[in-house]
Amino acid sequence: GIVSRVSLPADEEPEILSLRPERLSEYVGQAEAVETLEIAIAAARKRNEPLDHVIFHGPPGLGKTTLAHIIANEMGGTLTVTSGPALEKGGDLIGILTHLAEGDVLFVDEIHRTPKTVEEFLYPAMEDFAVDFVFDKGVHARSHRFRLKRFTLVGATTRVGLLSAPLRDRFGIFRSLDFYNEADLIKITLRSAALLEVEIDQAGAAELAKRSRGTPRIVNRLLRRVRDYTQVRADGVITRDTVAAALALEGIDEKGLTRLDRSYLKTIINFYNGGPVGIEAIAATLQEETDTLVDVVEPYLLKIGLLIRTSSGRKAAEAAFRHLAIVPAEKGQK
Ligand code: ADP
Repeated sequence: GIVSRVSLPADEEPEILSLRPERLSEYVGQAEAVETLEIAIAAARKRNEPLDHVIFHGPPGLGKTTLAHIIANEMGGTLTVTSGPALEKGGDLIGILTHLAEGDVLFVDEIHRTPKTVEEFLYPAMEDFAVDFVFDKGVHARSHRFRLKRFTLVGATTRVGLLSAPLRDRFGIFRSLDFYNEADLIKITLRSAALLEVEIDQAGAAELAKRSRGTPRIVNRLLRRVRDYTQVRADGVITRDTVAAALALEGIDEKGLTRLDRSYLKTIINFYNGGPVGIEAIAATLQEETDTLVDVVEPYLLKIGLLIRTSSGRKAAEAAFRHLAIVPAEKGQK
């Protein structure tokens, strides 16, 4: 597909693009989202209309950008990539919108971080394929409506709660992506290994999948590290042992937890007696951004049951004490 890049997401290595599935049929997992899209794309093509606007919700690295690429490919349009924070002024967005052709796809990553003044231009653009310019001020103010080509907006967000209602309501298709199961992660590992032309045995793929936090982006990142290790320290074929050795160097444990995941849990356990404790207190103790903890660290710890969220704050589950081999202290009288 043709991609025009307005800005590159910060953590996106351009090289990784080559591991991206190009078609819906190559996309592994997320069966419900894939089926919704299959039907919507086939119907839109039949009617010769652009696809309804789509929003994907879920933690980073699960394939939201990839699905935007795939939608553009399947609809035969060009993809333009930008993000909420990159759209600082209304003019930034208008410049992009007025260059879109019929059937093109505009992908807005982190759409919940779009400034309010810019977001207001999105409403008529999404609903009526129009932008309203206002010339002059006060009594001389005149507005002019500029027609846009019929395009599809694909939004991605890690935090659906931060989307404004008027924006949310303008998307026809809403899909949440969940962490991938081990079988799907193994498929992704084997597919990426084939594309990178590195040999990996079944046990090696299973071990890598198990340690990838349910996330394709992490599969691809760790696979590169393990490939380096295997080429330098072993005979070139990735096995369970080389995965374990290479990932130990990366600070990744048997459950796939990173150093930050473990410090987060240890903070709750050691500083706050296992919780409950508020996220701001944890962030302050760890000297980490609250957003990083909420978007990146917590979703997976919640998913695998090491963390519990209660109305009074975050608590470390018994399983977290066990995983970190910490004996629970006296929990006070209750
Ligand atoms: P997000 O936009 O949700 O942060 P991306 O779409 O950038 O995530 O996906 C991260 C990487 O993971 C991509 O480079 C892609 O190669 C890979 N990936 C994501 N989803 C899949 C999938 N379903 N099958 C295979 N690879 C995938």
